[in-house]
Amino acid sequence: NSPKKLKANTPGVISADGNQDRANVGRFALISHERRKLPIFAVQSRLLEEIKKNSILIIIGETGCGKTTQIPQFIHEAKLEKNGIIAITQPRRVAAVSLSKRVAKEMNVQIGETVGYTIRFEDVTSPSTKLKYMTDGMLFREAMLDELLMKYSFIILDEAHERSINTDVLFGIVKKAQKLRFETSKPPLKVIIMSATMDVDHFSEYFNNAKVLYLEGRQYPVNILNAKQPQSDYLQSCLSTIFQIHLEEPPGDILVFLTGQDEIESVVHTVKLASKECKKVLRVFPLYSAMPMHLMENVFRLSPPNERKVILSTNVAETSLTIPGIKYVVDSGHVKARVFQPSTGLDLLKVQKVSQEQSWQRTGRAGRESAGTCYRLFTKEQFNSLPKSTTPEILRCNLASVMLQLLHLGIDAYSFDFMDKPSQETLESAVMQLKLLGAIDSKETRSLTPLGKKMAQFPLDPRLSKILISSKTYNCVEEILSIVSLLSAESVFINSLNNREEANECHKKFFSSEGDHITLLNVYHAFKSFKTPKKSCAENYLNHRNLTFASEIRKQLSQICQQNDIPLSSCGQNTDMVRKCLVSGYFMNVAELQRDKKYILVDSKQRVRIHPSSVLHKTLPHYILFSEVVHTSQCYIRQLSIVDLDMLNEIAPDYFRQHRLGVKE
Ligand code: ADP
Ligand code: MG
Repeated sequence: NSPKKLKANTPGVISADGNQDRANVGRFALISHERRKLPIFAVQSRLLEEIKKNSILIIIGETGCGKTTQIPQFIHEAKLEKNGIIAITQPRRVAAVSLSKRVAKEMNVQIGETVGYTIRFEDVTSPSTKLKYMTDGMLFREAMLDELLMKYSFIILDEAHERSINTDVLFGIVKKAQKLRFETSKPPLKVIIMSATMDVDHFSEYFNNAKVLYLEGRQYPVNILNAKQPQSDYLQSCLSTIFQIHLEEPPGDILVFLTGQDEIESVVHTVKLASKECKKVLRVFPLYSAMPMHLMENVFRLSPPNERKVILSTNVAETSLTIPGIKYVVDSGHVKARVFQPSTGLDLLKVQKVSQEQSWQRTGRAGRESAGTCYRLFTKEQFNSLPKSTTPEILRCNLASVMLQLLHLGIDAYSFDFMDKPSQETLESAVMQLKLLGAIDSKETRSLTPLGKKMAQFPLDPRLSKILISSKTYNCVEEILSIVSLLSAESVFINSLNNREEANECHKKFFSSEGDHITLLNVYHAFKSFKTPKKSCAENYLNHRNLTFASEIRKQLSQICQQNDIPLSSCGQNTDMVRKCLVSGYFMNVAELQRDKKYILVDSKQRVRIHPSSVLHKTLPHYILFSEVVHTSQCYIRQLSIVDLDMLNEIAPDYFRQHRLGVKE
């Protein structure tokens, strides 16, 4: 069972077949030529042989060598997917969409036909789809409807090294489905695990000593430059490094790794302003999950000879997406990750240091096409003190949602075949949360209640599912549908950096003294009343695309409501009902004002602040309910509503009796 190394030869140029649509032939031929230059192309037949021979195969290959875009096409071209289609999972939405579009282009088909994608709230597939790029979360949801996943003859779990929570769960689910299909003489399921780097032994052992194939990539040397002293402000050093490269270094594009949308947008703005002073053109592009898909194209476009481009990206460009033309990488050494605090039972988004493995991946991006340079904005000593690898999400995130879905599949998370078993503490905390929400009947037997079964139907965090289901009782299904949809979409406000004052002024008319949730509701009502939505959104600094997407989500959630005996109802102006309803799922997310005018979380007593983006910023309500915790330099709560003691005690009496509110005054 020794790993085989597949050697790449320089392939000859093969021209595209001639039966294509005329207008497309030129571009298609070009892409075809590019495809054939990928190292993976030379080993196609060997690869297919191994795929035919093995029911589980682990494929490891340098980022950019062509795993995600080519292997599914090879399988399809060889007509190996006989009794079902090919699923390719991605931990990130933006990667699933972008890669499926690329493959559709390579195959010269419309996206949604032979090649499609499915991400939460968006399904661009059809009965003719054979290659389905999807988020791992979506495949997990499909498993809830059919644990044998009969629709698929191939399941490719990609980016396995990332160890996202859903991919980890899918490892177990897919392994079981394959076994069950074999035992019941159903058409077989082939499983392929793909990754850039991984702890091979750990994976192979888990998958019954599966065969491991190594694909040879092309990697050119990368010169690593470390910071001489620790940098106090990585954004500042990032800016000066970008311009140092732009002004002094030979041609080649720059890829900068930052942490999140807000940070990236603000650096984009600064670089754009500063680059106006430069003689040489510097084009600036952001790259993050929530960005408009049509802008994504720009990122991949090659720079003309006299221009340089700089891409400011989250870790999506680390291994999921490969951008051509990069010669310089700037590594901030930071990443935004979801972190679970067992003490509070909450997940929070936290900017933290990368692992050495991540940093090496980032470095590698500079040497894809020729020798390159990586600027690490931290010292050698700092690098050495970084953790070697990243902890799998399943060991550091809230498991309530996963546990609920597993229970719906009839699987108890305590006995599930995890590659790495979550800690007892994390499991306990998830059970506790589901118990408090009324989704399971007791902590010991852990069986789903009728409410729990309903909650599992919604592709939402269990707390939001609970709120949606409770809205029937509070007669505010319409209002809650709008709020939940908006919370599930990206921000509806445009915070234009150029006209910040004017935008703020515009937004004020939507503000509600009750908080951000009702503010969102006001925005949605206004949006629905616009006669010319696009124009009115622009005038009001509202994001038309995100609002349109939110109404799409709303439609889908509304359908699930109807299937679950939750008829539409509205509370009209009586928005107290809405806030009460929010308490029914978010009672664990309440913060209380202290005598020193600061807030603590009722649950864990942790100190928090109101996020500056909230309409309640600069007010001091006694109790606030929140949807989200964000940790940057401090712990902030975001998406807030004012609640009061009576409400809390009325809706979650047991919980608040335990946590003793209002006894400090
Ligand atoms: P892997 O999965 O092994 O990391 P991919 O299959 O994602 O590799 O990428 C193969 C190649 O296709 C890369 O070298 C990349 O440059 C190219 N590629 C992928 N997406 C695009 C795109 N949208 N535009 C141009 N080139 C792309
Ligand atoms: Mg890939």
